[in-house]
Amino acid sequence: MVTAFQTPVSAAVIKTKAMELGVDLVGIADGETLENNPPPGFPKKPSDITDHDAGRIIVMAKRYTSGTARIARWDERHKYYNDELTLTMLEEASLGLVYWLEDQGYPAIIIPPTHVDPWAYRNDPDEHIPTLLSMNHAAVEAGLGTLGLNLQLLTPEFGPRVMLTAVMCSVDCETDSPMNDALCTGPECGRCLSTCPGDVVGQWDRDWAGCDRYRSPHGFAHLTDHLENIFDEEDPGRKLELLRSEDSFNLWQSILRGAGVITGCRRCQDVCPVGEDYEKLIGDVLDDMPEDTAEKAARLREMISAEKSGNETDTFQAQKRWIGSYSPSAK
Ligand code: SF4
Ligand code: SF4
Repeated sequence: MVTAFQTPVSAAVIKTKAMELGVDLVGIADGETLENNPPPGFPKKPSDITDHDAGRIIVMAKRYTSGTARIARWDERHKYYNDELTLTMLEEASLGLVYWLEDQGYPAIIIPPTHVDPWAYRNDPDEHIPTLLSMNHAAVEAGLGTLGLNLQLLTPEFGPRVMLTAVMCSVDCETDSPMNDALCTGPECGRCLSTCPGDVVGQWDRDWAGCDRYRSPHGFAHLTDHLENIFDEEDPGRKLELLRSEDSFNLWQSILRGAGVITGCRRCQDVCPVGEDYEKLIGDVLDDMPEDTAEKAARLREMISAEKSGNETDTFQAQKRWIGSYSPSAK
């Protein structure tokens, strides 16, 4: 790197630039910290992406629109579409930041929140494949928030109602530190579990493969299922019906825009009471959770009782660094 061509830039200047480009939150993590603390389930490290420009991980968040959070149905196409536009805006802001950093003399690279590692695909559309880096964990390292009961990122400003991207760059600037205290109140709240249409939320855990069917309802797994059904159908009339079905229509619409593939269910994010936006903009219409059941309520009671007895789950132990300081007995 030819340092003579570099303009010194501080963390404050980078953050101001990112906000000017339209993001709502920005934090800067030390690349070495991410390198030395790979989260469970994410085998890749920043150095697997680049050997040269991973000194800092600039994590940016854009809030979801509140109007869509107020729609209770998880499978509402307006939600998919609005979220896809939020992601587009965030991606454009990330690209703007990359060009600006490079104008100052620092090569940079965008880490998207949605792209998975194609080398990890093993001909099984139902297998969960993680993204190259975990944006949620990187956001915690960048001081933006802490992880919740279902391992979603919670921020003080918008709770989990944010989309994330990161820009990697070896600029010599100050870094942020993780927050000390957990923002999540655990199973005592449990609203993310109560509302989940797939019932995939565990105790500081989530069945990610089960969740993918909802987070990406018209994604690759749906596409391969639907094509298999068409190929296997022997009756020509029924085959044509399947081709012209609502499934085909939804897949076509989703492939066209990405809405329903890279965006989908976010009920757990909508109903979480953490975040300044909750009381102001959405809480008044989200109290009722039609997906809640007596069985889910009983499971939450068991979790509360186990935690009060001092029993920590393996996943809690493994994710402790990113959950923050949490003490169930004190609540
Ligand atoms: S995204 Fe939907 S399916 Fe996945 S954990 Fe949240 S509520 Fe459940
Ligand atoms: S809904 Fe409640 S339990 Fe779930 S992440 Fe938010 S605060 Fe934690």
